[in-house]
Amino acid sequence: MYWDNLTTKHFRDGVIGRIDTAILPTGSVEAHGQHCPLGTDNMAPWYFAQQIEAEYADRVLILPPVPYGHTPDLEDWAGTLSVSAETFRRYVQEIGKGVANWGIKHLILLNGHGGNTAALQGAMEEIAQEQITVVLVNWWLDFSQQILTITAGQGHAGEDETSVMLAIAPKLVHMEDASFNPFRPRYRIKGPGLADKSLRHATTGDGRQGTSAKGQQIADLVKTQLSQLLSDLWNDNLFDRTV
Ligand SMILES: [Zn+2]
Repeated sequence: MYWDNLTTKHFRDGVIGRIDTAILPTGSVEAHGQHCPLGTDNMAPWYFAQQIEAEYADRVLILPPVPYGHTPDLEDWAGTLSVSAETFRRYVQEIGKGVANWGIKHLILLNGHGGNTAALQGAMEEIAQEQITVVLVNWWLDFSQQILTITAGQGHAGEDETSVMLAIAPKLVHMEDASFNPFRPRYRIKGPGLADKSLRHATTGDGRQGTSAKGQQIADLVKTQLSQLLSDLWNDNLFDRTV
């Protein structure tokens, strides 16, 4: 169920002591190539959360999302809105602590934006001090191996993300403007004058290769993986044995 659809009475009587798992979608408002909407990183995790809600309505709470993220690299592109990593981390951290206060024992941070990752890792450490298990899911990274059986490449507004958007919000994608960035950095680098190559057209990878069919396969894959995560959380099955 959706946290903010409940009345306080229904929350008190139906949630506390009964539902111990919540999902907080996080994203950003930023240029996504020349063809995907500014809210791409919000729409994808929100869609995935909705899929989970449809299947686990009585066991999982979906929190209202955090739509503003940390995205300094794309600030020069029209429409991008970035908040500092510190502001974002504190905001998520305080939401997480509030969630823990209402008896939630498992919190999934379902993130759609790479620039949020470091701040979310910081927030996790703080939230976990409230006797709550926090899981960070970066769908395009954590499920990359499986995604690359569906698409030839990945990227910011690249083949995988464009495909997901074509599947979930086709009217908002303008494939006639689909962009391609031929450059891929050899190193993990930041510095002056790099953006023209690292984020040419506000893209990494090749958005032109996106299709709705691939996007639907990715969405199904993410749903399967999130279902597995929930099952592992509920069954205390969070480690593989290596020996
Ligand atoms: Zn994105």
